[in-house]
Amino acid sequence: MTKRDYYDVLGVGRDASDAELKKAYRKMALKYHPDKNPDNKEAEEKFKEAAEAYEVLSDPEKRSRYDRFGHQGVGGAGGFSGQGMSMDDIFSHFGDIFGGAFGGGFSSGFGGFGSQTGRRRVNKGSNLRVKVRLSLKEIAHGVEKKIKLQKYVSCNACHGSGAESGSSKSTCPTCHGRGQVSRITNTFLGQMQTTSTCPQCGGEGEIITNKCHSCHGNGIVKGEEVVTFKVPAGVAEGMQLSISGKGNMGARGGVAGDLLVIITAESHPELVRDGNNLLYNLYISISDAALGSTAEVPTIDGKAKIKIAPGTQGGKVLRLKGKGLPDVNGYGKGDLLINVNVWTPRSLSR
Ligand SMILES: [Zn+2]
Ligand SMILES: [Zn+2]
Repeated sequence: MTKRDYYDVLGVGRDASDAELKKAYRKMALKYHPDKNPDNKEAEEKFKEAAEAYEVLSDPEKRSRYDRFGHQGVGGAGGFSGQGMSMDDIFSHFGDIFGGAFGGGFSSGFGGFGSQTGRRRVNKGSNLRVKVRLSLKEIAHGVEKKIKLQKYVSCNACHGSGAESGSSKSTCPTCHGRGQVSRITNTFLGQMQTTSTCPQCGGEGEIITNKCHSCHGNGIVKGEEVVTFKVPAGVAEGMQLSISGKGNMGARGGVAGDLLVIITAESHPELVRDGNNLLYNLYISISDAALGSTAEVPTIDGKAKIKIAPGTQGGKVLRLKGKGLPDVNGYGKGDLLINVNVWTPRSLSR
């Protein structure tokens, strides 16, 4: 195949300035842009031919060699062979021609070409939120919870595809399977390409011709699932655990969202949490405080006996080391702090 003259390819004279070359190439590139000419082999060849011509003529050194020696001067080793270049190469090479600030966008908006699947959207199911209520004992030791969830699950009738069994999906005619559409607009910065999700297929790249009767083409239906998960020891009110892949199933063969478990803590009748420590208010009589005694205090798992030394003053804090809650990150354990209150009778008996 004989190559056409590069100046002819771009439709410019041999004395064309850089600006004229650039303008001519941009015009060609937009005209033969594959997004505008889907599955048109001829347009693709023209597009590549223009890229090759511009590549040579925009380089002063190559241009002068071309002017003197023709195609021989710029071919061969180290030369340019537009025919062997992929479309992505061309865009990464000449992205700037489509207007400085948006050059990158032009190139990346084009990424799906050739692979056809590169930019298709995979539907991700939404996250589900549940609250679990934990007793202090469950928080102290960690617990395994089993809950039944109402959620979107994969449709059994179509195995999640959304297409009636036996019928198939077809490539979206609007985006030709790319999942994205590009639009070129004229602005004062020059021509700009914007890429957006295909309105017809919603970015999936394919459309269902015959929708599943059971899920109406969604691929998901309302259902139930029993989920088991572990809550680590030491969690606190308001903390959130994320259980990956246990949320709502994504539409049409998508992936499931996450299950977010929000911790709520039941209040204990006697023990109050303060970080990893537990606080307990102990009331003793004046005589026990004065003479010394023993007292029983509640703990997470039962009771503990403590000694009250003779002469104990109200406001003293006794500490039971390690009888608090474990740190959720595993950094040791808190203590049980006992605030001693001396109970003073309102009227002393005679
Ligand atoms: Zn279905
Ligand atoms: Zn589409």
